[in-house]
This record gives sequence, C-alpha cells and structure tokens, in this order.
Amino acid sequence: LDLSQKAALREARSIFAWVLLVVMFVGPFIRINGNPLLMFNIPARKFAIFGQMFWPQDLNIFAVIMVIAFIMITLFTAVFGRLWCGWACPQTVLMEMVFRKIEYWIEGDGPKQRALARMPWNAEKIRKKTVKLTIFFALSFIISNWLLMYVIGSDTWIRIVTDNPLNHLKGLTAMIIFTLIFFAIFARFREQACTFICPYGRFQSVMIDENSLVVAYDHVRGENRGKKAHGSQMSERRTVGLGDCVDCNACVAVCPTGIDIRNGIQMECVNCTHCIDACNAVMDKLSLPSGLVRYASLNALKEKRSFRFTSRLAGYCAILTILGGLLVYLLGTHQNVEVSMLRAQGSIYQQQPDGFLSNLFTIKLLNKTNAPVEVRLVLEEQSGEIQVIGTQLVAEGQSITKAAAFVKLPADAIRGGKIPLHISVYQEDRKIQTVKTQFIGPGGSL
Ligand code: SF4
Ligand code: SF4
Repeated sequence: LDLSQKAALREARSIFAWVLLVVMFVGPFIRINGNPLLMFNIPARKFAIFGQMFWPQDLNIFAVIMVIAFIMITLFTAVFGRLWCGWACPQTVLMEMVFRKIEYWIEGDGPKQRALARMPWNAEKIRKKTVKLTIFFALSFIISNWLLMYVIGSDTWIRIVTDNPLNHLKGLTAMIIFTLIFFAIFARFREQACTFICPYGRFQSVMIDENSLVVAYDHVRGENRGKKAHGSQMSERRTVGLGDCVDCNACVAVCPTGIDIRNGIQMECVNCTHCIDACNAVMDKLSLPSGLVRYASLNALKEKRSFRFTSRLAGYCAILTILGGLLVYLLGTHQNVEVSMLRAQGSIYQQQPDGFLSNLFTIKLLNKTNAPVEVRLVLEEQSGEIQVIGTQLVAEGQSITKAAAFVKLPADAIRGGKIPLHISVYQEDRKIQTVKTQFIGPGGSL
C-alpha cells in the first residue's frame, strides 16, 4: 500500500507541527514591553504570560488564569477529544517531527528498522544505533535547555551558560537529569509516556463523553469486516452481509501505540490520525469513499448527526464567562507598582521636639515594570507629614526596594489611641494607590 496517497491529515499535522516547533524555539527570545512572552519561574515565584509579569503578590490573578486554563482544557477535550494530543502536544510534535524523522533517516522505514532490530550486533548495527542515540541525547540536552529558558528566562540562561560551569554545578546536574529523562522518553518509552505518565492522558476518560470528537471507526459502515476476495467487487459484499472494512490491518500496522481503532475508543489512542490516513489510502484503492476511520463523535456515528451543544458544554461556557469577567476586573485593577506599609515591629509612638508625635513605618516598594520608578507618599487627610528616612523611594526595574519613614501628626490633633491613616502613593503626578494603615498614639495598643 502506498500510504502517502491519502496522507492529507499527516501533511496538515506536519505543517502545524513545524509552526509550533518554530514558536517553541523562538518563544524564549520574544519580549513584550521588555518582558518574556512566557515564563514560569517557580523557584522565584515570578511568571510572565504574554508579556504580563505576575509576582507572588498577583497570586489571585495567576490562580484565576490557571483555573480558566483548566476549564478551557476540559471544555476543549469534551468537544474535540484528544485533538491536543495528536496535533499540539510538545511530546508528540517532537517525537513525530524530530526524533522519528531522524530515526527514519538513519535506520530506514518500519520494515528496515525491524530488520535492524533482529540483526545480530555487527558494525552496521553498532554504527547506526550509536549515531542515532548520540543525536537523540544531544537533542534531549538542547530541549532541556530550551525548557529551562521558559523557567528562568533567556537572559539568565545566557548569563549562566556563558559563565564557568563550576559555578553552576547544581544547575548542571539538574540539566543532565532532565536530559536523561527526555532521552529515555524519546529513545525508549515514546507513546507509553502518554498512556502511563501524562496526567492529561489519564483524565481523558472523565472528560470525554459520547458527543466528543474522537478518532473513530465507523462500525455501522465497516462491519461485518472481512477480507476482500481476489477479483470480487466491493458492491457484492453487502449482499453477503459484509461491510467496507476489508480487514487489511493497515490501521493497526501504523498505530504508534499498537491499538486497533476498530475496537472502539481506547485510552492509548493519542489521536495521531495515522490510522485515518492509512484507511483512507485503502478506501482510495478500493474506489470507496474515504472516512471509514475519521474524526467523529460516537453519537454522530450511531445517529448520523453532527455536533450537539449539550448542557454540560453550556455549563462549562457559563463558568468560563464568569471567570473571564473576574479576570478582566482583576487585570483592570492590577498595579505594576505597589507600595505596602507596616508599622515597625514592636514600636510605639515617638515624641518629636516640634510638638509632633511620630510612628515609624517600614515600606516595601514593588516595581513590576522594567524601568526604574520613583514614588511619593502623601498624607491626604491628616495635617501631618511623611519623612522618608534616607534616600527617595526609588525601585529599579523588576525589583523590591525596602525603606523606612516617620509618619508625623501634631500631638494636639490626636484623639484616641488609634488613628486611621490614608496615604496616597503618587508616581510623578498620578495617584496610583491608597495605602490604609493606622497611627498609634498615647493609649493605643500595638
Ligand atoms: S488509533 Fe492509533 S493510529 Fe489511530 S489515532 Fe489513535 S493512536 Fe493514532
Ligand atoms: S485500514 Fe480500514 S479497511 Fe483496513 S482494517 Fe483498518 S478499518 Fe478496515
């Protein structure tokens, strides 16, 4: 069989996968407003999503984004089944488009690879296996480093790799461990990682129902299956109770996880579409319509109807709408510069020589932007003043500055032990925040 005749899906997947590979490898170097496109710096608890930086202080926004992402994945899976696995999963894309292509180039196609595996160890086998595994190891090392860039950012990565490796022994050890894991997956375990390790793969059975789009065998049209007798016409098969499946096993032979799609949906199916292309090629040879194996929901196959918007999908959409609204609100009120003020631990009021009472505060100025910022603190309501100790309140880009300040109020204006304070934070002439705290006067407890 010339499976390339009807390999439309394989070609479409190839084009899409190459686009994804380019995005994956260029991604760490893309910057928006000076921030990484994507960065998940878990150790430093700093994240970037489409150039927007999130600090530990933005955990609420990040949590909402994660919940939205989870529900979108659930909704996507409920509608499109394992489409992600076959088309966009990095493991599938790298396996199919990079590692398997290299394997074909070195060891030849499937039959040649099987022949090589059966061959006793000789010079040719040692040479081919060594070359293949060396390239696989090198690629695994490159992939580990690229993923590291998505964690620590490309600038930090470049700084580390251009430094003396002895200064980064811990990091280097971690890199080698990750390289070995990737090497084991791409060289040995392959699709087994999808079925045994991938958490998304294991949740499939919960998320998919009979209305989800899956790679499916049209058993109504295909059964009863039976070999095509030499010289017989396909039109004669119906009269003897046979369907369009000629039981050629082409769909099974091309399946990377070794399953028979004709046995129904199976957890091992990674939606790679190889069986669709293989069966379409058979149907083409037999001058029958393609699509005996195709993307379809089980209900669509049974009842011959297309997509149905179920109440479950409506529920997911409703939750997504609510969370989307919440996210818009949080992003709308999100601050790139934040000031927090706490009264110095254990301190009470101080008597100043000019008839004022003062409280000592510690100040944290968080700057999430890339440029330095300077802020001013103004007591809006009270007839007092704020004296920042030392320099101005300035924070370099992507940093936190700590400072201290006296808040001074006239002693005769203080009634009661605790006085609420509203302190406005100005960046240039723009008020960006109001900090609420308390002033402790005589009689006030800590
Ligand atoms: S049954 Fe096998 S070949 Fe077909 S889509 Fe699933 S994993 Fe791929
Ligand atoms: S490739 Fe098509 S015709 Fe051949 S066994 Fe599979 S489903 Fe049947």
